[in-house]
Amino acid sequence: MTTTAPWHATILTLYPEMFPGPLGVSLSGDALCRGTWALDTRQIREHGIGRHRSVDDSPAGGGAGMVLRCDVLGPAIDAAAPAGDPRPRLLMSPRGKPLTQSKVRALSAGPGAVIVCGRFEGVDERVIAGRSLEEVSIGDYVLSGGEIAALVLIDACVRLLPGVMGKLASGDDESFEAGRLEYPHYTRPREWEGRAIPDVLNGGNHGAVAKWREAEALRITRERRPDLLANDE
Ligand code: SAH
Repeated sequence: MTTTAPWHATILTLYPEMFPGPLGVSLSGDALCRGTWALDTRQIREHGIGRHRSVDDSPAGGGAGMVLRCDVLGPAIDAAAPAGDPRPRLLMSPRGKPLTQSKVRALSAGPGAVIVCGRFEGVDERVIAGRSLEEVSIGDYVLSGGEIAALVLIDACVRLLPGVMGKLASGDDESFEAGRLEYPHYTRPREWEGRAIPDVLNGGNHGAVAKWREAEALRITRERRPDLLANDE
């Protein structure tokens, strides 16, 4: 049982049926049922304009696609997160700061997040400034909407909440936590298709195991992501 208010995500979307989606199963789903975290979705279209509840319009200056209107998103955000709501307001956006494990840690240590999911060509720039939205990207590629990006962000945050992963929760060893990628894992059988588990892992010498893992983590990081080591002070 949690004694404090649960970590709370509010999602603004045109597709609320995409939530909780995959977050409704396994560790995050169990934690959602237990009340360790809470999720609510707001249909942006409820703030749409006119009889057709229109939410988008063609881009000023011309060009392809449609843009989410600021006079729709603004009121939608105000209704979902009134002034005084302490949660950060995020806009999922390929232009945003790339999401990192340290950002995930910071978010999961806070009260939750209000997350705006874009669609079409994106959102009117004025609402980003007018509602102090922090743009967050999940990587250098373009999705068709912010919903899957929001699911990624929430999944990464929720698994760090106290009690969600049980004993695994320390997560200290995991990729990115120490500015490097994780060492390789093995389990039974000892030999498979001629490939054996490295001897050191069978010996029960915890010191030697720790040393081997550290060396492997460093080797793999050097090979695959030297940029992570360069970021180390
Ligand atoms: N025209 C935009 C892309 C719009 S994609 C551009 O070129 O930058 C539509 C929506 O999908 C975006 O508003 C955003 O909410 C979401 N989205 C797309 N790619 C994303 C990414 N890498 N990270 C986070 N959100 C993304």
